Amino acid sequence: MKIFNDIFKIIEYRKSLNGSIGFVPTMGALHNGHLSLIQNSVKNNDFTIVSIFVNPTQFLPGEDLDKYPKRETADLKICEFSGVDAVFMPKKSDIYSDEEPTIIAPAQKAYILEGFERPTHFDGVLTIVLKLLNIISPTNAYFGKKDSQQLYLIKNMAQSFFLKTNIIPCEIVREEDGLALSSRNIYLDLEERKKALSISKSLKLASKAMMKGEFDCTSLKQIMSETMQSIDVEYIEIVNRNFDKIDKIVLKNSIILIAAKVGATRLIDNLWI
Ligand code: AMP
Repeated sequence: MKIFNDIFKIIEYRKSLNGSIGFVPTMGALHNGHLSLIQNSVKNNDFTIVSIFVNPTQFLPGEDLDKYPKRETADLKICEFSGVDAVFMPKKSDIYSDEEPTIIAPAQKAYILEGFERPTHFDGVLTIVLKLLNIISPTNAYFGKKDSQQLYLIKNMAQSFFLKTNIIPCEIVREEDGLALSSRNIYLDLEERKKALSISKSLKLASKAMMKGEFDCTSLKQIMSETMQSIDVEYIEIVNRNFDKIDKIVLKNSIILIAAKVGATRLIDNLWI
């Protein structure tokens, strides 16, 4: 497996490859969620490139950028064992210059939900994704449904800017007890981890209620919030696949979204219906 820090070297390497290229952008501290994206890419492409870059522009001042977990040695082993061909780990100073054009995500979809408490977060996400897609020029790029609003905005950018890469959504990977995998789960102590389970439990309850015919979003939100009383829920929202808020569930076109703080750790989860 090759490891590149230098942008021009990876561009050269990319040019030397013949065949389809799968690309998995990550911020490192890899877990089984990332691994499923990597496996999907390895299975469906001739070559797979993974990037590891903690992108400063998607963090707001005061957020956990400096304490974002770093596990470079373990990450590289995971990539190597999974059949990754190359890992790209650029320096911040090579990715960003002092005179950057600004990419602004569409306000009506990017300054709600995840972007409401974190304005400019998605501007930073789109900026880094566009830069990485331009450097790697992949055939397919893999993103988790766990970050569903991010996935929507990236797909929208790929369409709007006529990018040639296919954006491939991947299923959410969970612990056996239902907790969605996240690099931030390591911050949870035992007690908090138990409380965090109420997030995925509330999604299961909503799912059961829908099986019994409950499609009213206000009622579903009520059921979910009752289950999450021991944690600090930031939002429970139900949207269609275009990220417009809806009042009634439409099967195959709805997503239930939750963001909550458990202790100091902010977690998100969702259910695609
Ligand atoms: P991150 O390193 O947090 O930026 O995540 C990199 C990619 O992994 C993103 O596309 C995420 O949506 C995806 N991802 C993170 N956690 C999960 C999960 N539990 N299941 C599936 N994909 C995930």
